[in-house]
Amino acid sequence: MSTIFDKIIAREIPADIVHDDEHVLGFRDVNPQAPVHVLFIPKQPVATLNDLSPGDEAVVGRLAMAAARYAKSEGFAEDGYRVVINCNRDGGQSVYHLHLHLLAGRAMAWPPG
Ligand code: C5P
Repeated sequence: MSTIFDKIIAREIPADIVHDDEHVLGFRDVNPQAPVHVLFIPKQPVATLNDLSPGDEAVVGRLAMAAARYAKSEGFAEDGYRVVINCNRDGGQSVYHLHLHLLAGRAMAWPPG
């Protein structure tokens, strides 16, 4: 099923893109929950973490690597940051295209709500 993130990948709707490579797109969340809130998504259509198959390890690996590189390049590596992947209803997922949230620029609370 097509989502709004497919439209962002296809440049059919605008986004503030901060990372773009062969496999991963990174763009600022329109409703930021921290001073820096970027979403990293695979360009291939994967709805949730549940939909990954053996052999898809690189899909999540690329998202994590892109987020870590971005955090480092923006100067957040030492103080730290948070990455989150919400899955399905109880996980708080609202867009059914796999995405990794990178949150940085403030101290995070634990446990999350
Ligand atoms: O993990 P979850 O599915 O709830 O996250 C979806 C995120 O996508 C939200 O943080 C929302 O603000 C963001 N979003 C966006 N641009 C859109 C639609 C949603 O950044 N056009």
